[in-house]
Amino acid sequence: MKNNSISTDTDVIIVGAGPVGLALANLLQTQGLRFALFTQESEPRPVYESRAEGVHVRTLELFERIGVIQKAMNQGRPLEGVSLYSLKQKLGSFSLKDPRSAFPGALILEQGKVERILSERLQENGVSIHWGHKLSALVQTNGCVEAQFVDQNGVTIRLQGKYFVGCDGAHSTSRKLIGVDFIGEPHPGSYALADVDIEWHQEALDSNVHVFMSPLLLLGKLKEGSWKVASLVPKGAKLPESPEEILSILQAQIDHHGVLAKLMKARWTSHFRISNRHVSTMRKDRVFLAGDAAHIHSPMGGQGMNEGIHDAANLAWKLALVVNGKADDSLLDTYSEERLPLIEKVLKDTSFMTNAIEIEGPGRWVRDKVVSFATQIQMLEPLLREEFSGAHRTIGQTRIIRESNVSFL
Ligand SMILES: Cc1cc2nc3c(=O)[nH]c(=O)nc-3n(C[C@H](O)[C@H](O)[C@H](O)COP(=O)(O)OP(=O)(O)OC[C@H]3O[C@@H](n4cnc5c(N)ncnc54)[C@H](O)[C@@H]3O)c2cc1C
Repeated sequence: MKNNSISTDTDVIIVGAGPVGLALANLLQTQGLRFALFTQESEPRPVYESRAEGVHVRTLELFERIGVIQKAMNQGRPLEGVSLYSLKQKLGSFSLKDPRSAFPGALILEQGKVERILSERLQENGVSIHWGHKLSALVQTNGCVEAQFVDQNGVTIRLQGKYFVGCDGAHSTSRKLIGVDFIGEPHPGSYALADVDIEWHQEALDSNVHVFMSPLLLLGKLKEGSWKVASLVPKGAKLPESPEEILSILQAQIDHHGVLAKLMKARWTSHFRISNRHVSTMRKDRVFLAGDAAHIHSPMGGQGMNEGIHDAANLAWKLALVVNGKADDSLLDTYSEERLPLIEKVLKDTSFMTNAIEIEGPGRWVRDKVVSFATQIQMLEPLLREEFSGAHRTIGQTRIIRESNVSFL
């Protein structure tokens, strides 16, 4: 390995150009902080890799702050509501429109598009992302963090920053390097998903997200007319590897739930396992963890990408105040103190939703009656709107904002 040591100084080193690292970089940019963003992939991920595709209202408010809201609205489509089904019957629908926000509700916008929009914004502001740099070591000394990266030619680069934020995903190297525990357990079962064209042999489903329960099948229309289809891989079935195997599992679930539709051409397929885990702390001295590096959970309710971006929002303005000498370093302790309880609640809620959707046996009858009744009297709407808006996520910051009188959000 060549060893070409470059010593540069910056305020914040960010690792990971997923939605969280990119959002954090943009938010630090709005605060006028110096930062450097490193990521291991050599170029942006393809725009068609949808992964997460629901952008919550609170996240849209942050996009407005960053200056990308128009682009996001143009490239996405509004998510009006959710319809729930069991035993081939529709139990009811609920609206996700949120009267408390300037935005009508959540937006369907694939993660690939979110990442592209956020990296283009950095480019517009003259910020270059350091593609093809893998984090390999981290040392904290008095007053700074030194991070070491290896580039694609095997060249080692060292960089010093006042603070470091690991946004490097579920298998976070940052988390391992600072020795923070990732507490929790895997959820049984795995999920297959695809972005795919559908040939309808019934009236096409409307623009709500359609959730078929026991076992889970999810159908949601994307902006360009194709559909996001996801389902639980049946117990005992071989884990899918090829796109054909994934489509065959999804088609079998569509048939099982009595939807008259044929899956056609897929532009992206994947499968994943759910785990419910969170870190024991989101800060260790000058190193912070955000997004999947700090918490992973069921995708039910579309929280993963949103919660990660909310981590970034909580941290960015605090880093700005501390780096600019307007607040004491102890303000940064409130990042973990405020975010962890909310993350624990998200894990609990998403785990509850996942288990409820997968109930079999007599419990299923009870669940269906409750869901049916709750949708009729519109009882679910305020609860689920809260999950899909993320509006409560910044509770805990208000006192600090008022006292410090900073430009926040
Ligand atoms: C197949 C799949 C489907 C999903 N579906 C959904 C869904 O339907 N709904 C939902 O809400 N969520 C979903 N998720 C989860 C969602 O994608 C994540 O919550 C979101 O990507 C988290 O963003 P992040 O920026 O924290 O991490 P990531 O998107 O994982 O980004 C991490 C970044 O760090 C970089 N990196 C990692 N290690 C290093 C290193 N050592 N050095 C340098 N760079 C490094 C990576 O290359 C990447 O750029 C899905 C995830 C997957 C994998």
